[in-house]
Amino acid sequence: MTADKDIIIIGGGPAGLTAAQYSARGNLKTLMIEEMASGGQVLVINDLENFPGFKEPVNGMQLSQDMEEQALKFGAEIITASVKKIIKKDNIFHIETDSGVFTSYAVIAATGAKHKKLGVKGEVEFSGRGVSYCATCDGPFFKNRKVLVIGGGDAACDEATYLSKLTDKVVMIHRKERFRAQKALAERVAANKNIEIRFNTECREIKGAAKVEKVVLETSDGKQYEEDFDAVFVFIGSIPQTQVLPDVPKDDAGYVIADCNMETAVKGLFVAGDVRATPFRQIIVACGDGAIAAHSAALLIDELKGQQYK
Ligand code: NDP
Repeated sequence: MTADKDIIIIGGGPAGLTAAQYSARGNLKTLMIEEMASGGQVLVINDLENFPGFKEPVNGMQLSQDMEEQALKFGAEIITASVKKIIKKDNIFHIETDSGVFTSYAVIAATGAKHKKLGVKGEVEFSGRGVSYCATCDGPFFKNRKVLVIGGGDAACDEATYLSKLTDKVVMIHRKERFRAQKALAERVAANKNIEIRFNTECREIKGAAKVEKVVLETSDGKQYEEDFDAVFVFIGSIPQTQVLPDVPKDDAGYVIADCNMETAVKGLFVAGDVRATPFRQIIVACGDGAIAAHSAALLIDELKGQQYK
C-alpha cells in the first residue's frame, strides 16, 4: 500500500511549522494538520525578544504568519482539522480526523502543551470573567486595575512584566521562597516598581458576584487573608497534549520521550516542541526539534522507498 503523503505533521506551532517548511523544502509530500490557527502558544506573545536574528522584539502573531507563509511557499499543504487518532498498520500511519483519514509514511507530532489550571474554587466559574491564562489577550481589559499573577516560572515573570505596563498594581505570588524562572527574567520582575512580589503564598479561592472581586490567599505558615483584585492571571505551567498519540514512553510529567533524532519508541513517529521531554521549552528549541524531526523522517522515508544513500 502507498500512502497519500510522505509526512504528516500534527500541530502548527513553531515546531510543526518548522518541520513543515523543512520537509516541503526537501521535496516531500507534506501535510500539516492544525485544529486552530497556526502559531500555537506563540500567538499570544506580544513581544518576543530572544528569537535569534531579531534585534527588536518580534510580535508572536507576526512570526507565526511569516513561518506559515514560508512553509506554504515551499509547498507544504496546511489544513484545519481535529486529529482523533493515529494508527500504524504495515508501516503506514492512518491519521483519523474530523475531516477524514489521511495516510503517511512518517508522522511528526508537534501537539504542544496547554496551560495548567490551579484547581481552586472560583477558577472555572470566573474564567473569562477575571480569571485568565493569557496576559496579552486579556490584560488590556484591566488597565489601571489591581491584578494578581500566580506562578514562579518564565511565563509568570514575562506576563507580569507585560501587565506592569498596563497597571502599576500587579501583585505576584509564588508558592516557594524564590522564582523558578531564568535569572534574567526574575531579576527584571524584582526590579519592577509596578510589581509587588509575595513569596511563600498560594491562592485558595477566587470570589465575586458576576466577576472576580476578591481572592483568598494563604502564606506558607498557614495565615489566610482576603484581598480585593479585579483579575487573576494564572501561569503555573503546562500539560503536554498527547491524547491522540499511540501509547509511547513518557517522563513523569507526561512529556513524550524521544531519541536525539526526535523519534519515539514507535518507528516513524517523531515528536517536536513542547510535547517532547526536554529540559528547556523555548521557541528556538521547538524550531530545532522540528528541523531534526523533518530530517530524520526524510531519511526514514528514503529507506522505506529503497532510496537511501549508501
Ligand atoms: P514552569 O513549569 O517553568 O513553571 C511553573 C511555575 O508554576 C513554577 O514556579 C511552579 O512552582 C508553579 N506552579 C505549578 N503548579 C502550581 C500550583 N498548583 N500552584 C501554584 N504554583 C504552581 O512553567 P512556565 O509556563 O513558566 O514555562 C514553561 C516552559 O516554557 C519553560 O520551559 C519555560 O522556560 C518556557 N518559557 C520561556 C519563556 C521565555 O524564555 N521568555 C517564556 C515563557 C515560557 P514550583 O517552582 O514550586 O514548581
